[in-house]
Amino acid sequence: MERFELGCVFFSNDLRVYDNLCLVSAAKECKTLACVYLETKDDLKQQFGINESDLRRQFRSQSLCALDTELKRFGQRIDRLVVKSKADICSFIDEFNPNVIYRSWQPRQSANNYWEAIKKAYPAIDFKEEFTSTLFDESQLPFESNHFPATFSKFRRAVEHLAIKDPVACPSSLPPPVGKPKHWQIKFKPADCLFAGGEREGKKHLHDYFKGQHASSYKQTRNALDGWKNSTKFSVWLSNGCLSVRQTFHSLKKYELVAGASESTYWIYFELLWREYFQWYAKTYPSTLTKFSGLSNRSPKTFFNPQRFKKWCSANTPFPLVNACMSQLNAEGYMSNRGRQIVASCLVNELSLDWRYGAAYFAQKLIDYDFASNWGNWQYIAGVGTDPRGGRHFNLSKQRAVYDPNFTFINSWQGEKCDQYLDSADIVDWPITRV
Ligand SMILES: Cc1cc2nc3c(=O)[nH]c(=O)nc-3n(C[C@H](O)[C@H](O)[C@H](O)COP(=O)(O)OP(=O)(O)OC[C@H]3O[C@@H](n4cnc5c(N)ncnc54)[C@H](O)[C@@H]3O)c2cc1C
Repeated sequence: MERFELGCVFFSNDLRVYDNLCLVSAAKECKTLACVYLETKDDLKQQFGINESDLRRQFRSQSLCALDTELKRFGQRIDRLVVKSKADICSFIDEFNPNVIYRSWQPRQSANNYWEAIKKAYPAIDFKEEFTSTLFDESQLPFESNHFPATFSKFRRAVEHLAIKDPVACPSSLPPPVGKPKHWQIKFKPADCLFAGGEREGKKHLHDYFKGQHASSYKQTRNALDGWKNSTKFSVWLSNGCLSVRQTFHSLKKYELVAGASESTYWIYFELLWREYFQWYAKTYPSTLTKFSGLSNRSPKTFFNPQRFKKWCSANTPFPLVNACMSQLNAEGYMSNRGRQIVASCLVNELSLDWRYGAAYFAQKLIDYDFASNWGNWQYIAGVGTDPRGGRHFNLSKQRAVYDPNFTFINSWQGEKCDQYLDSADIVDWPITRV
């Protein structure tokens, strides 16, 4: 039933038409519709000097172009609104005067602040928020938000048997657009990238992954430092919402029907639950996710040392395995989960650096950057999140022996090519003499 003259969908981390509850509701409820991508100025830029990498920008731009193409099949289009302050959203609202605005919930606090601010400023507008990036609805969670499980294991045990809804189909039609198309140009320097953005590419990847037998050996291969099918690579399309997590889960279930359920297929679900955990964790603790002391009451005994940080970023530490992982990140915009744990542990423990700079560097480089997963995992390793063991310190020699016994990974990323020394001066600023 069309209740609203004009609706507006604010797109952000949900760049798809399939399993998109905002679009489905807008299709039912609105006579005309504006689809707008909100490009919010990254709030981390000021704090940490983050400039997203060309690879990340390219992937997002491709995803946006692909969404525009999909929407055109429905006679719709996506407009882009660059948001530097609340005033930019207000001038858009004042120009179009929508009766209802839909958006997907997202973990980033700055985006939520905008949302709350415009809700207050426009009491006559209906604001509707959907959870499109989680497996469960908020109402399904068997705990109150002030009793969020203290550890991942408790969270997993509480939710893993809950029913997961089927993805919702694409709407059969969409209301026509309003206003003249705003000319927007996608600016990026085309770069060589392992991943192509967009809903179709995401679906194709999902299909290709489950076409083979890789899911049946996932548990044995998932920790590898390299290799296309050793882990799923779903994170890349999940992070922008080109794929929905429910759609991913249902593809896994279909695979199990044909190939059989196994410990490996369960483990893919287990990892999706880690993702789920960090989404709800971010929702529960919005202001602590980028805080140095995190959830704990004490700050770690680490600091910011520009020289060490630069060495870590540029793959030039005295640790070949760390260098190889960082070279891979810098070149491909991707790093395995094992690699991420190793380099994060090294930054915190061997280099004694403030974990937030590492998280910020990941935010700049990772194509699959996801606010909740990234900052949540970094907190976990730095020991300021919910890790019951109070942080992780990976023994670099043991990690090398187990995950790169023949130095294949280190050699392929030239990890040995590095400076033997971490600092050029000692603790009281005397230059270190090298012989
Ligand atoms: C320091 C650090 C930073 C990280 N930053 C991000 C990030 O910005 N974005 C991101 O998506 N993941 C992040 N992760 C989690 C994890 O490393 C990646 O999701 C995973 O490596 C992506 O590759 P994959 O899709 O092949 O994973 P797979 O091993 O195939 O896992 C399947 C899916 O489960 C989810 N998943 C797996 N492990 C985790 C985890 N530890 N936390 C949350 N979700 C998980 C992902 O959605 C992933 O696609 C980070 C981990 C660490 C240790």
